[in-house]
Amino acid sequence: MGHLMRKHKKKENTAQAKEDEKFYCSVCGREIDEEEFESYDGMCWECWDDQLTEESEDIFGDVM
Ligand SMILES: [Zn+2]
Repeated sequence: MGHLMRKHKKKENTAQAKEDEKFYCSVCGREIDEEEFESYDGMCWECWDDQLTEESEDIFGDVM
């Protein structure tokens, strides 16, 4: 039994699994959909936007 190593998580039927899967914003905790979760790094767009703004302020801080 040499290769029992599992590199990949077992993939279920994604469409089916989606039904009960819930995603929550890691910042404010509100429920978001998978699309948001993936697009916004686990946050709702508002928190993502907030964070983006903060980051931009850091990056462009000298410009102001
Ligand atoms: Zn949020």
